[in-house]
Amino acid sequence: MLSSLPRAADLYQLAAAGKSYTGRIDPSEFQRLLSAVHRAGRRVEISLRFGVEEGVHYLRGELDTELVVLCQRCMAPLDLPLGSRFLLGLVRSAGEEPLLPDRFEPFLVEQREMDLHALVEDELLLSLPLVPRHPAGECLQPPYGGGGREAGSGRQRPFAVLAGLAARGEKQ
Ligand SMILES: [Zn+2]
Repeated sequence: MLSSLPRAADLYQLAAAGKSYTGRIDPSEFQRLLSAVHRAGRRVEISLRFGVEEGVHYLRGELDTELVVLCQRCMAPLDLPLGSRFLLGLVRSAGEEPLLPDRFEPFLVEQREMDLHALVEDELLLSLPLVPRHPAGECLQPPYGGGGREAGSGRQRPFAVLAGLAARGEKQ
């Protein structure tokens, strides 16, 4: 069990020392992530390995969890397995980026000490799909889908409105 990730860590130092962190964190610790989803799922499995390869200080990460989001087609809850794999090559300035071998994703280290907890949360947020949906054909039917939308009886049907506009145009 990973009690907590350092909130202030020198990433270059961790890489030089070959540090690693593995364990599980309760999703309730990731408030920004929770506000982006419907509700938390199982605990976040975290594996972070720092090291140096070809002179590049890197962070290799594997994150796995499952969250509950709302399907953007039928608006019903959807269990979303979320996995993130990344290999970040640390750079101190944008000028160092072209020197990185292709397999590294540049990660700009702006301060001497960075928040590992926030870094993990950022990576999870980045791996969220923009428009989560059930697989084709697996969406729930009303009441989740159309029921709510048709509840207001006073609403005009768009085609009726268009027809009305067209009729008015003909008269003028
Ligand atoms: Zn759906």
